[in-house]
Amino acid sequence: MWTNWSGGQECRPSATVRPLDEAGVRAAVRRATRRGMRVRPVGAGHSFSPLAVTNDVLLDLSALTGLVGVSGQRVRVRAGTTLAGLNVALAERGLALATLADVDTPTVAGAVATGTHGSTARIGSLSAQITALRMVQGEGTAVEITGPELDAARTSLGALGVITEVELAVVGALVLRLTQSRVPLDEVLTPDYLDAHRWAEFSVFPYAEDALARWADQVTDQPDPRTRANTVRTFVERRVVRAAAVGGGVALGRTVPRLVPTINRAATVLTGSGSVTDLAHRVLVARPVVRWEESEWALPREALADGVRELLAAIKERELDVGFPLEVRVGPAETGWLHPAYGRPTGWVAVHTAIGTDPEPLSRLAADVLGAHGGRPHWGKRHPWTAEQVAHAYPKLADFRAVRDRYDPDRVFTNPHLAALLD
Ligand SMILES: Cc1cc2nc3c(=O)[nH]c(=O)nc-3n(C[C@H](O)[C@H](O)[C@H](O)COP(=O)(O)OP(=O)(O)OC[C@H]3O[C@@H](n4cnc5c(N)ncnc54)[C@H](O)[C@@H]3O)c2cc1C
Repeated sequence: MWTNWSGGQECRPSATVRPLDEAGVRAAVRRATRRGMRVRPVGAGHSFSPLAVTNDVLLDLSALTGLVGVSGQRVRVRAGTTLAGLNVALAERGLALATLADVDTPTVAGAVATGTHGSTARIGSLSAQITALRMVQGEGTAVEITGPELDAARTSLGALGVITEVELAVVGALVLRLTQSRVPLDEVLTPDYLDAHRWAEFSVFPYAEDALARWADQVTDQPDPRTRANTVRTFVERRVVRAAAVGGGVALGRTVPRLVPTINRAATVLTGSGSVTDLAHRVLVARPVVRWEESEWALPREALADGVRELLAAIKERELDVGFPLEVRVGPAETGWLHPAYGRPTGWVAVHTAIGTDPEPLSRLAADVLGAHGGRPHWGKRHPWTAEQVAHAYPKLADFRAVRDRYDPDRVFTNPHLAALLD
């Protein structure tokens, strides 16, 4: 039995294959097609949506790890390398990813396949940093993808083939000063806040008046090795403690739902303020201590403030017991044809539900309110979209389908969820 990170998706594949190299991937794809079976590549299983679910062959890429090579500010990495592994390998060479998500346990290929993003107004997602890809197609042959088809492959949902290697543009070592503070919601909703920093996000609990803002800017100081361990640990623990406090609040709120507004206000006030300076991946990434279900929507940037206000008001009006904060992030327009930020600067709004609570009421409300503002769902998170909405929202869908027809004419790389979205 395979389950994803949240436990919300599970399946019983007929076979799970863990190739040790690209030749093993090619052989596994050929063997599956000879038997008339479908193949789903899987990374770390961190997607909340059923993208990787299959009753046929699950292709586990966790053995394809490590750097293939580094040339200046270009790095080639095997598909199953985790973002954590990549961050450390880059730091050892005085390099860094230009952008980071808030988690480092996903794999490079899984992260790019779903358009995984951080929160930097001017720097695109990991998909946008790709300069070339190697992929095993439906007939079991490997191709190097560069040129215009790269925009199909940047965010492929695992529907074009199995990525075996990714080449990325990276930057020199990045030291950031991260600050966290409680700020009135109106202030963080202005572009002045979200656009003013190298990295900026905020979270806001339903029923609370203030937001928790976190922003980071590049500094020239070097992290001080004597204080670093202590300061970073203390600061990250505060984030962790906040998450745990939220988790505890969630549990209490489940037992006594009418306490949720009070718990949320208290969590906002109790969360610490402060700053810390260190390498980007040490300050921006947090290991979660509780698990949840999540939906996230990519809104045209100009609709972000209204979308957030309306969603908070709708939660209040329906008296939903939402014990996790909304998480709000930004990014520039992307060129990946199926990236949710394709063609427009984007504001991202995520909602979370505790495990053990039905995620549907909040997920549906977010889809209704944020979808009405032109929102497109994050592919790796829960959403109700089908091919009709996808066709309407993605102007390059026909081009993507044409590439798919060439790479995977027999639809080896599909499952019912993908068929409902793309066919
Ligand atoms: C705690 C947590 C925090 C998160 N934080 C963020 C965040 O900050 N920003 C954000 O945008 N998202 C975030 N996500 C979502 C997550 O980054 C994405 O769902 C990402 O796809 C997970 O990578 P994975 O390796 O687990 O991929 P999986 O979930 O295993 O797979 C995702 C997709 O990629 C495909 N795939 C995997 N490997 C390959 C391959 N080698 N070739 C072709 N296709 C492949 C799969 O078929 C599937 O379609 C978070 C998720 C969790 C659980």
